[in-house]
Amino acid sequence: MYDSSSSTTGGGIRVRTPGIPIKGWCGERIKELISKTNLNPYRRYDRCRYAAQMKLENDNHIFKWVDEAFTDEIQQLDYQMCLSSTNIHFDYDGHYSKCGDDYEWIPTDARLYAISFRTSSLEEITYSLLKERICRKMGIDPFTKRLNLSFIPLAVEPKRQSYILDDEDVFVYQTSMDKEQRRNILHLEDIQELEIVQITE
Ligand SMILES: [Zn+2]
Repeated sequence: MYDSSSSTTGGGIRVRTPGIPIKGWCGERIKELISKTNLNPYRRYDRCRYAAQMKLENDNHIFKWVDEAFTDEIQQLDYQMCLSSTNIHFDYDGHYSKCGDDYEWIPTDARLYAISFRTSSLEEITYSLLKERICRKMGIDPFTKRLNLSFIPLAVEPKRQSYILDDEDVFVYQTSMDKEQRRNILHLEDIQELEIVQITE
């Protein structure tokens, strides 16, 4: 019987199976069994039907604790979710200030905001979509506020601001990352409140 209290190794040579197993390497379907050992009483585990039927021990047929298989599966889903989303952090309102040779951003508010696009396709995130999402997040009307979007590219020396004016700039912003794959913080300058003037003849 399997006395291993730890993870997937119950003795013998075992191949690590990711997630919830459906079939063993031998081609046999998986059967769920219940452990009767003192170390793992009533803990459920997966075995291939062959190993289960033959009551094999210390073999290399599939052996996996059911709870661990579920944890595995959830971690994989989390990882996939992470890969298929694009997160952008931004500062709402502030200004640039020259500091030696560099320009630096002085935020009005210390708080950082974030938006997430459920896509990893950079072409899908357009300038208008980016602006729309920021406005929605901040609860501002895109028709009455003029916002300037910019960032300081990490790779450029001396440090200075690069304004985002079209789809191409958005693409450049998204692909300008440092060695650790970190994206620059987006800076938003609240330029002015646009006045809607009724035209009268
Ligand atoms: Zn098997």
